[in-house]
Parts: sequence; C-alpha cells; structure tokens
Amino acid sequence: MKKEKIIMNKNKGKIPEPTIERLALYFRYLNEMKNKGMTIVSSEDIASRTGVKASQFRKDISYFGEFGITGLGYPIHQLLDKIADIMHLNRRHNVAIIGLGNLGTAFAQYKGFSKWGFHISHIFDKNPDKIGLVYGNTVVEDIKTLPRNLETVSMAMLTVPASAAEKTAGLMLDSQVKAILNFTGVNLSLPESITVRNVDVTNEMVVLMYFKLSGGVEV
Ligand code: NAD
Repeated sequence: MKKEKIIMNKNKGKIPEPTIERLALYFRYLNEMKNKGMTIVSSEDIASRTGVKASQFRKDISYFGEFGITGLGYPIHQLLDKIADIMHLNRRHNVAIIGLGNLGTAFAQYKGFSKWGFHISHIFDKNPDKIGLVYGNTVVEDIKTLPRNLETVSMAMLTVPASAAEKTAGLMLDSQVKAILNFTGVNLSLPESITVRNVDVTNEMVVLMYFKLSGGVEV
C-alpha cells in the first residue's frame, strides 16, 4: 500500500498530502466561479466541477475549521481566502528557472503563473547564446554567477538535462533556495532542509494508459 505523506498544519494537526493537492484544484474552480459572479457554492457543485466526491470535499475542508451555512452551502470568498491562507497564496513568490531549454522557455513565457502569485524573478542557463535574453522583466543570467544569496527566491524550477541536475540542485542549496520543482527525472540527493517535488510527465502518461486500458477510474 502506498504510504501517504502527512503534512503538519499549525491549526489542526495532520493534513494528508492528497488533501493539499485537492485544495489547489478547489482554489482554481472557486476562482472561476467567483469570476462568473457566483457567491455561494454547494459541495455538490464543487463535486460536479472537480470530479472529487462531495463528501471528500467536505472532509478536506473540515481540516481547517467550520465553514458553510447549513442548507445553503459555502461562501466562495470565505473559502478562497481560507485556501489562499493555507496554501500561502496570498503573497508574492519569486521563482527561478534553471535551464532555458524547451521546458524552461515554455515556463518563462507562460503568463498564467502570476495570477497565483508566482513571478519568474530569475532565469539561469549556461549557454552564452541564451545569457542576456529578456523574458518579461527578467534577464537570463549565467549559471556561473551561482552560488550567491537567492533567499528571496521561493522555489527553483529545475529544467536542465539529467546530467546537470545534481550539480545545479547543489547550486540552489548553496544559494539558500529552499524548494525545487524537479523536472529532470533524477532522484536528487539533498538535505531535508530543501523541499523537492518531482514532476514526471512520462509517469503521468503511463498511469493514464493504465486507467484507460484497465477500465479503472481515477480515485
Ligand atoms: P533542453 O535540452 O531543451 O534544455 C536544457 C537547458 O539547460 C538548455 O538551455 C541548456 O543550455 C541548459 N543547461 C545545461 N546544463 C546546464 C547547467 N549546468 N547549468 C545551467 N543550464 C544548463 O531540455 P528540455 O527538453 O527543456 O528538458 C528539460 C528537463 O526536463 C530534462 O532533464 C528532460 O529530461 C526533462 N523532461 C522530462 C520529461 C518527462 O516526462 N519525464 C519530459 C520532458 C522533459
């Protein structure tokens, strides 16, 4: 059985990792509902839009205290404020891109991150042809300028080739960057003081094919 990672919550104790992932999903849909002028939402509405069961939504939300008006539903602005607070989305997060190749360029050009408070503040590469290019207000810098103090950077997106993953992750560590979104497929050896999340699209494709061809449903 897969061991579920537990995240400690200052207010209410232990929060399972899947709950944290679903909160991000709820946040996206609640924002869409707010933009359409809706003010109240029921757990059934959320269920039909997100594919998460209404009972699961109520359980997820209950980790963070009492919400909702019996018989009416949940005030959307209250839910959004609470989720933003829990997920630390009510502040600016600076993001560094390490490796401006296919993936790095796509992320550097994507306008949607800023809606969530994520701003590409730094881009690094080793290729002289890329150093000095400008994306938004951000100039691509030489990776050789690292390590240096990057404490204001909330996370690094690691989009270098696998062969450069450990070395560049080490540069992040030495530059006081405390979180890495790792696209390289390398299982990075880093101390626990740095939080790493691995993103592997091929894995997702494999899992999707399993669900499709085994007739299973995602849970
Ligand atoms: P890419 O080769 O297009 O780009 C890599 C960039 O990193 C280049 O600009 C290169 O100059 C730069 N670079 C290389 N060494 C560096 C160093 N030491 N310091 C700084 N910059 C350096 O790669 P891509 O297609 O964008 O892919 C990025 C990563 O994502 C790769 O590790 C790739 O394997 C991985 N990836 C994984 C999947 C998946 O499904 N698992 C899918 C796509 C990409």
